[in-house]
Amino acid sequence: MIRVSDYERVVFFTGAGMSVESGVPTYRGPGGVWKEYDYEAYACQPAFDRDPTNVWEFHNYRRGLVGACAANRGHQLVAAAAEQVSVTVVTQNIDGLHQLAGTQEVIELHGSLWRVRCDACGAREEDREAPKAVLRCACGAWWRPDIVWFGDALDDASIAGAVSSIGACDLLVSIGTSAVVYPAAQLPLIAREAGAKLLEINPEPTPMSAIYDECMRGTATEMLEALCR
Ligand code: NAD
Ligand code: ZN
Repeated sequence: MIRVSDYERVVFFTGAGMSVESGVPTYRGPGGVWKEYDYEAYACQPAFDRDPTNVWEFHNYRRGLVGACAANRGHQLVAAAAEQVSVTVVTQNIDGLHQLAGTQEVIELHGSLWRVRCDACGAREEDREAPKAVLRCACGAWWRPDIVWFGDALDDASIAGAVSSIGACDLLVSIGTSAVVYPAAQLPLIAREAGAKLLEINPEPTPMSAIYDECMRGTATEMLEALCR
């Protein structure tokens, strides 16, 4: 039985399943509300270049849905673990719920729904407005959601931060990721190569399950209750 308190440097590597119990829908699982929208068509740079108003309508809809969700017990347990051990969260989520629960060290591999950037002048801004009212930067260009869209490269600094924290951890806990989105899916291998213990929390097996020392088949909140006792 793995316990967080038996380790020193723990990385929680989280995906959409982490936020399911907050009511944030996954893309691939049942009940994906994104089905109303063909999200690949609304979440890519060419769509934004063609019709920024349309892409903003979709992202403001997402802001509304996600903004109504609270951090769940699992997010809180991850935040509380930092009182005992060094904790870094490396997340594929863009919902900001780890930060809302109080985790300080969060690396957002896929950006944030709550941050915008201006590709014309380089400005960035954070807010939790839903819907975001002002869609243009002071320089006049459109704000763009600071999210890694389909076809975008991941941010170098985020990747570097993830690689260094994962390479230095002694326990990696993967939670609620289907492990099919690359390159994020491969990051846990770095922990394995570095000799860390690897634990997967997911109700279902994933294509990466075989690399884990142990798999806990259940929801994020239930399994974190056991792990963080
Ligand atoms: P995914 O949707 O591909 O997979 C979700 C995984 O969570 C599945 O393996 C599923 O079995 C598991 N799961 C379902 N309920 C769970 C629960 N209660 N507890 C634990 N696990 C549970 O998600 P992904 O691997 O993160 O990849 C999807 C991509 O889309 C990522 O970039 C992701 O961040 C992004 N996305 C983000 C959000 C968000 O910010 N909350 C929501 C949807 C998608
Ligand atoms: Zn600007």
